[in-house]
Amino acid sequence: MNISITKTTAPKAIPTENLGFGKHFTDHMFLMDYDRETGWSNARIVPFGRIDMHPAATVFHYGAEIFEGLKAYRREDGKVQLFRPYENARRMNNSAERLRLPQIDENDFVDAIKALVKVDEAWVPANFGESLYIRPFLFGNDETLGVHSIRKATFIIILSPSGSYYPEGINPVKIMIEKDDVRAVKGGTGFAKCGGNYAAANRAGENAEKKGYTQVLWLDGVHRKYIEEVGAMNVMFKIDGEIVTPELTGSILPGITRKSCIEVLKNQGYKVNERLLSIDELVEAMKDGKLEEAWGCGTAAVVSPIGKLYYDGTEYVINNGEIGEVTQKLYDILTGIQWGKVEDTYNWIESI
Ligand SMILES: *Cc1c(COP(=O)(O)O)cnc(C)c1O
Repeated sequence: MNISITKTTAPKAIPTENLGFGKHFTDHMFLMDYDRETGWSNARIVPFGRIDMHPAATVFHYGAEIFEGLKAYRREDGKVQLFRPYENARRMNNSAERLRLPQIDENDFVDAIKALVKVDEAWVPANFGESLYIRPFLFGNDETLGVHSIRKATFIIILSPSGSYYPEGINPVKIMIEKDDVRAVKGGTGFAKCGGNYAAANRAGENAEKKGYTQVLWLDGVHRKYIEEVGAMNVMFKIDGEIVTPELTGSILPGITRKSCIEVLKNQGYKVNERLLSIDELVEAMKDGKLEEAWGCGTAAVVSPIGKLYYDGTEYVINNGEIGEVTQKLYDILTGIQWGKVEDTYNWIESI
């Protein structure tokens, strides 16, 4: 893939404090256009800025949009690295297949990220916990209201320096089990990373927030019984010494952090069970004191311990509202590999 590069003539001041998440954007972005006749073309890195779009563009009306999320990390020696980017490339293509958006060669996907991060490398923060968030996204861009298969699409990558997810240390979150809305159903788009899934989750998320909870725990859409995910993270539990995480049934997003946690845990000698886990079983375990730990996992937080879980009028406290041993171990190992403090025996790191 040939990428043309046009550098900005007006570089911005690089922020170093109060980075937050998704507030600041770097000086450049990557774009590429798709046309059914000619395939992908015009791969380019250009100054970051607004994009010109037709008001009838497919994405505005029929929601054909998918995205990815990964990070570039700066090691102590100053070098910049990515964590399992080919996994993002593969997942984006699985999402594309589901929404009938065009797929992108996996090497081109990773090369585009590397080229863009290289151009804006100075924006990768140097502190442990801080990183450069990478957001690739792809959408249908036909300029017509006709409902038909997609002939034109656009792929863009933007970069956003982001602060530590845990500036004040890892605090366990309060989660509410959602009984009315569902995020996804088997046969739908739950396994695809698409914007529509997030739109469908907004109402429950807002309701939970109003009641003082950070996120919702989603139950499956058919039985309203089996645990699926927590907010936009996968979820894991330690019940009576055994690690349990919902199996990938088609309505759950196959997280790369989830996959990495499973590999690390197995390597550490833990038994990990990917299986159906009903809310009744979880409530029983909480009542019997057998739920030892619960945590969400995803790229943004790595792991997010759950300290309180609300269901049906009762608030259950997990592990005294503190981070558990397994959760802490996963956090240390994964962040250690990502920021280059721990040897990467898994071959997960990709240098820039
Ligand atoms: C992105 C995402 C995750 C986490 O995936 P990672 O690859 O670990 O970042 C989990 N659930 C949903 C719904 C997501 O969109």
